[in-house]
Amino acid sequence: MSRLVTPDLCVIGAGSGGLTVAAGAAQLGASVVLVEGDRMGGDCLNHGCVPSKSLLAAARHAEAMRSGAAFGIAPVEPAIDFAAVKDHVERVIAAIAPHDSVERFEGLGVTVIRDWARFVSPRRVEAGGTAIEARRFVIATGSRPALPPLPGIEGFAVLTNETIFGLRERPRHLVILGGGPVGVEMAQAHRRLGCAVTLVEGARLLGREDPELVAIVARRLAEEGVRILEGRPAEQVAAADGGVALRVGGETVTGTHLLVATGRRASLGRLDLDRGGIEADAASIRVDAGLRSVSNRRVYAIGDAAGGMQFTHLAGYHGSLVIRNALFGLPVRARMDHIPRVTFTDPELAQVGMTEAEARAAHGDRIEILHAAYDGNDRARTERATDGLAKIVVLRGRPVGAGIVGAQAGELIGLWSLAIANRMKIGQIATMVAPYPTLGEIAKRAAGDYYARRLFGNSRVRRLVHLVQRWLP
Ligand SMILES: Cc1cc2nc3c(=O)[nH]c(=O)nc-3n(C[C@H](O)[C@H](O)[C@H](O)COP(=O)(O)OP(=O)(O)OC[C@H]3O[C@@H](n4cnc5c(N)ncnc54)[C@H](O)[C@@H]3O)c2cc1C
Repeated sequence: MSRLVTPDLCVIGAGSGGLTVAAGAAQLGASVVLVEGDRMGGDCLNHGCVPSKSLLAAARHAEAMRSGAAFGIAPVEPAIDFAAVKDHVERVIAAIAPHDSVERFEGLGVTVIRDWARFVSPRRVEAGGTAIEARRFVIATGSRPALPPLPGIEGFAVLTNETIFGLRERPRHLVILGGGPVGVEMAQAHRRLGCAVTLVEGARLLGREDPELVAIVARRLAEEGVRILEGRPAEQVAAADGGVALRVGGETVTGTHLLVATGRRASLGRLDLDRGGIEADAASIRVDAGLRSVSNRRVYAIGDAAGGMQFTHLAGYHGSLVIRNALFGLPVRARMDHIPRVTFTDPELAQVGMTEAEARAAHGDRIEILHAAYDGNDRARTERATDGLAKIVVLRGRPVGAGIVGAQAGELIGLWSLAIANRMKIGQIATMVAPYPTLGEIAKRAAGDYYARRLFGNSRVRRLVHLVQRWLP
């Protein structure tokens, strides 16, 4: 090693979580070394959120051209230049990249090392010819696609999220294995961009989500021409006519390309965790509620490397907790109940806190479900986006879960995340005055439902109103 550095913090991985910690800590005055072996920005910028949402945005434009009839706009089949769509995706990545760049971080005072980091002892990491003995280490190494143990898959040129955005030619028939958020988003994007798409899911589509809400997304996908094979585990992969043949429940599905989106596993292989005295299983580093390694107290793990849900905003939240604990010595405890998640299909599906099924399993009949349908909302009517529903789970007068399927669901869920984070009462949501006409009124309508059930048609309330009316001047 040519040099030894002794910063306050060494952050391994310059993705969503690592960048949050590095930027925050440096701006608060800590000395920080940031180590990244691949592209700055991690999965979200390069192979995840940003390219997938950019592709979906292009797909939405294509679909808008086909679906204007109800507005009096003659539908046309769009001419799609697939390579130009990919140029758009690349331009969006390039526009965001400076925010995550080496230059920006060095400008903040962070020392950036471009290499793979590995532990050589519980106190020392090496990368790029530098030995780093930091007061604290933060493992923010993200995750990689996990391929299922399917006969024939080894050696087969499958696509994953790391390669699909690089395709310049439109796949004629994309077969997608895995009906989670990534598989479902990619199914709709590619279908709308003119590909035939078959989506194969061994269990239930979007299996973590409320089936009543998922049904609305599944119906739209099917209407748009995505072939969905649900509850049908894949059995074998083989090459066929320069493409792929996938055996699924006795049927052979053939296509030109195979995208595997069957989950992701923490990216820990290069870290030499044993030498760092850091316990991990196949999926993640073992951490306590404050995100510290259970076996090496100098080390934190955040984001996808910490296991559990895999989201950019969760990695960022983890990062903020680590800053509080590592820099200010404040006790922290990672909460999950207020972390929202969104599948960015059209319609979007968003959830925070417990689904109805989870809440019933935990609290039985003590929960109450409030409903507000999009077709009762005037803005949804003007937009012809009435296909949607909000379901709010209430326990003892407070929301403990919210699921929304419909236009802008990802924007609408933030309010419920705030309410759950602050243990607000449903009555506080009811005090909100939402501008008319906005989809924001859906939240107020759901909260209003809580009181409508108690007040409207209640004979005691009616008697009280009569009484008060007699006394009023
Ligand atoms: C297709 C797709 C779409 C997604 N869409 C969304 C979305 O819409 N919203 C959302 O919230 N989340 C989304 N996600 C998930 C999101 O991308 C991840 O949860 C998030 O990037 C995790 O952040 P992280 O900091 O844990 O890891 P990452 O952002 O993956 O960063 C980890 C970094 O660590 C580096 N690294 C690994 N090992 C080492 C080492 N030994 N030394 C040095 N560097 C190392 C890697 O090269 C990488 O740059 C999506 C994911 C995919 C795959």
